[in-house]
Amino acid sequence: MKRWKKIVLVLLVLVFISQLPFAYRRYKLRRLRAAIEQLESQRVTDIAGNFVEYLGVIHVHSFLGGHSTGTFEEIIAGAQANNLSFVVMTEHPARNFDTAAMTLKGIHGGVLFVNGNEVVTASQDRLLVLPGDEAAAGAGNFSTDEFASQQKQKGALELVAYPQEFKSWTANGYDGVEIYNLFTNSRRINPVVMFFDGLWSYRKYPDLLFANFYQRPSQNLKLWDEALAAGGRRLVATAGNDAHANVGLALEDSAGKRLFGIKLDPYERSFRLVRMHVQLPKEMELTTESLLAALRDGHCFIAFDLFGDATGFRFSADNGSEKKNQGDEITLSGSTRLAVHTPLSSRVVLFKNGNALEEQSGAVTIEFPVSEKGIYRVEVYLPQLPSPAGAQPWIISNPIYVR
Ligand SMILES: [Zn+2]
Repeated sequence: MKRWKKIVLVLLVLVFISQLPFAYRRYKLRRLRAAIEQLESQRVTDIAGNFVEYLGVIHVHSFLGGHSTGTFEEIIAGAQANNLSFVVMTEHPARNFDTAAMTLKGIHGGVLFVNGNEVVTASQDRLLVLPGDEAAAGAGNFSTDEFASQQKQKGALELVAYPQEFKSWTANGYDGVEIYNLFTNSRRINPVVMFFDGLWSYRKYPDLLFANFYQRPSQNLKLWDEALAAGGRRLVATAGNDAHANVGLALEDSAGKRLFGIKLDPYERSFRLVRMHVQLPKEMELTTESLLAALRDGHCFIAFDLFGDATGFRFSADNGSEKKNQGDEITLSGSTRLAVHTPLSSRVVLFKNGNALEEQSGAVTIEFPVSEKGIYRVEVYLPQLPSPAGAQPWIISNPIYVR
């Protein structure tokens, strides 16, 4: 054989070998999709309790904030495609105009929009302020404590964003912590791996590519658990889509014509991966006020609905004389029990003051007797799903405070 032929042959073999892992990853996504479809057929639809559950997303940017190009139409269409009830916008402020006043607000296309801001304070902390206003542009002039206190007086809901960078845990005013951020999680992606994953899997499994990089936000959960333990106050946990519609990879020729493109976070897809499920009393209407109050009260949970619609999940407490929901406080009695109801058979891990205490698997209704005061929350897993999805949380509840 001629020398050049040998070289070509060796190169072809190397290319072939290099692609094997990606072909296997595509096969794993096919297996995951089959497992998700199988689970869907086992859903338990009878849902206990006196709530109506509303699905929505928090932490969305449009073109107004500078580094996104997303339009209002795209955001509304993305919410409608996912049957969302609400979208909480979090625009970056601009120096010469009020982005909270200009963004989506009220009902559009049947979806409730809240006009929030994402601000950076003089302490270099980031807060989501809901709703926002013209004060957002001046946040950089105040410490986190000062700014959060001012917004609190106006009745805004304030969430710590990027908790891994937050320094002012002793500040007053904030109501919760964004313990999961899709954008932050997606920055773990290795571009080379994503390029080949994209070639192999993007056309067939664009949503499930998320499963290749999704990871339990362990560091943020720890920071939240510590803030709860230290502060003696209630703090809601939320997930942020941090949707910009600009995470991805594209190859363009010199004329700007797209040769190859993977967009990991068009709004429609981002809104499908992770959502907030908010519980309102049956007689209550969904409005900006009732939504923000339910979030502040922790009457909500985080669900990675891509792996299975978590609608119907309940986490409640009963002490013999009163019944309470996640987010609430309850008095310890001799017969206090926590109850977990999941729409799919799952593995439920109970945490007390941030530490895994015990777990139960299998049933859709699980009870944990409680004999000590503490802050209790649960994480729900679907071990029926192949790895890595089955080892990551499907649902993260808000706590019940047994006092
Ligand atoms: Zn953001």
